[in-house]
Formats: sequence, C-alpha cells, structure tokens
Amino acid sequence: MRTDFRKEASTCNMAAPHFPAPVPGQRHTGLGKQRTMIVIILSATIAMFGSITLTTDASWHYASSHRTTSTPVSRSTAVATPAHTPTLKPTLTPTQAPVHTPQLGYPLFYGNSHLPEIALTFDDGPNPYYTSQVLAVLQQHRVKATFFDVGYLVADYPNIVRQEYNQGNVVGNHSWSHPELTLLSASAIRSQIASTSTAIQTAIGVKPTLFRPPYGSMNHTVLAEAYSLGVTTVLWDASAGDWSLPGVSVIVYRILHYVHNGAIILLHDGGGNRAQTVAALPTLISTLENQGFSFVTIPQLIDDLATSSPHSGVSKHRATTRI
Ligand code: ZN
Repeated sequence: MRTDFRKEASTCNMAAPHFPAPVPGQRHTGLGKQRTMIVIILSATIAMFGSITLTTDASWHYASSHRTTSTPVSRSTAVATPAHTPTLKPTLTPTQAPVHTPQLGYPLFYGNSHLPEIALTFDDGPNPYYTSQVLAVLQQHRVKATFFDVGYLVADYPNIVRQEYNQGNVVGNHSWSHPELTLLSASAIRSQIASTSTAIQTAIGVKPTLFRPPYGSMNHTVLAEAYSLGVTTVLWDASAGDWSLPGVSVIVYRILHYVHNGAIILLHDGGGNRAQTVAALPTLISTLENQGFSFVTIPQLIDDLATSSPHSGVSKHRATTRI
C-alpha cells in the first residue's frame, strides 16, 4: 500500500529551524509544489552487474495519485555548497563489519512482500535531544533501525552518529543541507551526497551505502549521481506524517494502517519537535511485534529481497492488518 509521500515532502522542510536557509539564487518552492519525480526502471541485468542506464521514457510520477498536473523539473544553476567541510578526524574503530549489501540500480520503496519483516527509518537527525531518546527506545526493545542523517548535523554531532552505529543501527546519507535536490545542478547534487558520505565515514569509519533524497524528491540526475557515488536510493511506503505533530495516537494508527510485509516506515528524529514520535515508538514497536513483524535494517531488507518465504500465508494476513 502506498502512502501519501507528499505529506512527508511538505514537512521535512527547509523552513524547519534545524536546516539552513535555502541557497541564495536557488528557487524555493512552496509546500504544495508539484514535483516530477522520476523512477528509473532498470533491467535485472543492469541491477545485477552494476551498469546503469537511465531513461526518462520509463518515468513514473511519485505520488502521482495526488497530482493534478505534471510539471517539468527545473534545475537551478545555483550550487548548494556544503556549509563547511567536515574536519573531524577518524576516532572510531568500527565495531561492526561493513555491510556488503549489493547496490541497487533503482529506488527502493519496500522490501520482500512475502516476509513479515519491516524497517524503521528515521530522517533528519542526528538531533542532540531526540535521537538519543529514539535510540533508548530501540535499545530497550532490541530493535535495529536505519537513520538517514543530514551531513552538516553529522559534522556537528558525530558522537550521536557513533551512538547510532555502535548500537547496531545503520547510518544512511540524507544530503548535506537537506535541499530539494531536483532543483540543483548535477555537480551540486553530487557535492551534497559526497560530502555527507565523507562526514559519516569520518564519524563512524564506514562509508554509507544508502541514500534518501530530502522530501523523497528525485529525478534522473539525482538517481544517476547517487548511483555513481555508490549508494542505493531508499524511499519508503509507510509514513505517519509525524513531522506535523498529529498526535501520538494518530502516528501509531497511521503506521499500523499502512504497514505490510516488507514495509519501509518513515519517521523523524530531527528537523523539529519529535516528542510525539518518541512517545509513539514504544507502542508502535510492541504492537507490530505482537502482530508478528520483525524489525530489520534496510541492508537486511535488501538482502532478503530475493528470499522466498515458506510463510506466505502469514504475509497475506499481515498485509491486511488494521487496528
Ligand atoms: Zn528529511
């Protein structure tokens, strides 16, 4: 089941106090802006052997059911140069072996629909206040998640990123300053992704293999640059709109409504007040576990894509779970 990606896109926003102002000269778009987000369909051969061919002929409009028109993607010539270059020195000996999950040549929205496993993902951190609270809940429930961190915040709070990593979670790339990447030049997009990967590697000693574009906004150029930099683009298909502070019970309800086998759940540990997200998390985890789901990281979800499950009957049941 698809969720309303546009809700996420309008919240995880540049107006949030934790994100820098848009780059001067860069076209700023409103909350209701319609975006053309192109999904590139690659052949199995390409995905398997690492060669990528991007074609707009196979375009697909992200959240197209919410669109009334399709607008062409425009790109600013402004270059979003990272605010500063990470200067951190490697201080951590990785406690985890690097994940050797194969890079996907297409954006991942969800995992294996035949397996009762789901992935919690948290965007827009690290946050000096909320991330540690999220980590405490995850640790209490012995759950591993995937954090898509913003580069300049990684540089500001490397200890929090190390805490994420050392606790067994996966750290992914969420751009340097959280711009809408489809408005940037190819070189600016590349800079946003590359500088963040460097910052994460500096913080935890391991280069990220996953990338999530801010607002879920992507096009041919974003996907091509991400692929060339060695990261798999990861989206989601279960969002609670937790950024809009709808209330703890609503966050829980929405996730339980959208969840299904292989679901990638989008929540936020940064970018604003995330108290409701933190408060919803224990109930969410307990309820989903009671329903038979297990929590995995995105690399695990990818590794399990080709796995056929003997529990297909369970998956059918889970796909219709409601509260
Ligand atoms: Zn975000």
